[in-house]
Amino acid sequence: MESHNRRAPEEGRAMVPSSTPRAQWHKSRSSTSSISMYSVQCGKCFKWRLISTQEEYEEIRKNLRDNPWFCNKKSNVSCEDPADIEYDNTRTWVIDKPNLPKTPDGFKKKLVVRSDFSKCDAYYLMPTGQKVRTLNEVEQFLAANPKYRSVVNISDFNFTSPKIMEDTIPEDIEGRASSSKKIRNMKDL
Ligand SMILES: [Zn+2]
Repeated sequence: MESHNRRAPEEGRAMVPSSTPRAQWHKSRSSTSSISMYSVQCGKCFKWRLISTQEEYEEIRKNLRDNPWFCNKKSNVSCEDPADIEYDNTRTWVIDKPNLPKTPDGFKKKLVVRSDFSKCDAYYLMPTGQKVRTLNEVEQFLAANPKYRSVVNISDFNFTSPKIMEDTIPEDIEGRASSSKKIRNMKDL
């Protein structure tokens, strides 16, 4: 049980791992990669559980601070079951802040990791297909498409970049030391 504690984040924060295994980063290093796998950490046993959809993940994340997540919220799963996924550097992990707004229906939030792993960018796809990268652009979109004002509010959008976990970045990315990086205690974040 003690062994779980070294990975325990404060408040069981949600994390978004990229599903692309490290080998594939090598092949397509010139292009960016988007997040395609979501997981959340149990507030009791600290195991990581995969969350099947972005929508479900955002639902959990939006009030994670007041409403911690536990294994038994996933059907047929308990803290006794082995973790779905381990936090390690076989894939690159991106950590999200808790309590971010859930993306409104019809809109889509995208998180894209830059090819050099320097940053993860957040943007939204509007129902019109338009890409929006800042709150100003959301304002402009609403001004140009006033019918959406009754469905969404500016506070439904959040462009905070999730943090790329440095200790899970592939070691051969240029500009990065290849010395062994230890998985740090997440309380240091
Ligand atoms: Zn658990």
